[in-house]
Amino acid sequence: VPELLSSRRETPAWPHASPGEVDALELFAIRKSFASGKRTRTEVLSGINLKIRLGECVALVGESGSGKSTLLRIAAGLVTPDEGDVSWPGGDLPQVVFQDASAALTPWLTIGEQIRDRLRPLRLPKAEQNARIAEALELVGIDPALSSALPAELSGGQCQRVTVARAVVVPPRLLLCDEPISAMDVSLAAQTLNLLGTLRRQMNMGMLFVTHDLAAARLIADRIAVLDKGNLVEIGEPDQIISAPAHTYTKSLVSAVP
Ligand code: ADP
Ligand code: MG
Repeated sequence: VPELLSSRRETPAWPHASPGEVDALELFAIRKSFASGKRTRTEVLSGINLKIRLGECVALVGESGSGKSTLLRIAAGLVTPDEGDVSWPGGDLPQVVFQDASAALTPWLTIGEQIRDRLRPLRLPKAEQNARIAEALELVGIDPALSSALPAELSGGQCQRVTVARAVVVPPRLLLCDEPISAMDVSLAAQTLNLLGTLRRQMNMGMLFVTHDLAAARLIADRIAVLDKGNLVEIGEPDQIISAPAHTYTKSLVSAVP
């Protein structure tokens, strides 16, 4: 990882290998249950296998409560599975973008300082840190002058862009997004979807994009994975899934899209 980061200046846009060469995430036989009573447990994930290649975006769709966030948190290393293996070939930890951006930011720290936190391990001179912070903010369409602002001074959409800037200021191999556009109005959601898609291509990141919006999944993803009652019941290219859904839940999802 350190070589990768120090070589970033020479290869700013494509720091990783070309798509398809390497996996960014490997989930093998993941099981997870939660206590649902004094003596009962409910299985939320029942043996999930999923690989995401570097540069590939997989959209994860499924009903509310189907286990999408649990799977994403396991993929992020935030939750430990009961069984199975999670690995991030290449080593560095993934970055996560959540639905509620303002909760993901620290209220009493300026947005510049919060982005700087990710640069600390690089031990860059302060001036270079500042340049990198400004560059990351510009990349997501935020005026770098706002780096001295507190999160409360920004709109919800701007806060979400800041969490994206923080995630990509050191380009990660894997970006995990948990319904990042679900709380946004239509036009902001479209802008943010475009931004994430563009960054994914420029930085050649692997991406897991959780959504209940099949249209958004079709726009951003190379593959759509359908989670139903703890199982991945369908996975394939968007056009294939949408034109010929195999599973009952996918059929109902497809028929609900205008
Ligand atoms: P989704 O994101 O698809 O809506 P979640 O992964 O958030 O689904 O939740 C799946 C199921 O697991 C739900 O029934 C939820 O109540 C349960 N669950 C998630 N996290 C916990 C937890 N920390 N403790 C107990 N139950 C949980
Ligand atoms: Mg969720």
